[in-house]
Amino acid sequence: MAYDQNQGGFERKKFQGNWKCSKCGGEITELPFEPDPARSDKLMCRNCYREGRDNRTNK
Ligand SMILES: [Zn+2]
Repeated sequence: MAYDQNQGGFERKKFQGNWKCSKCGGEITELPFEPDPARSDKLMCRNCYREGRDNRTNK
């Protein structure tokens, strides 16, 4: 019995890059999800993302 492959299994993926927060203009270098290139200008940093979630508005 060999358990060499697939040990653990749960690793959080992080995507690194060079984006800009559309709200505060801050730099984003890491995202917990893969950003959609089509929406790369609508990305938000962690802080803004959280705020946006709490305070949702439909445009
Ligand atoms: Zn921001």
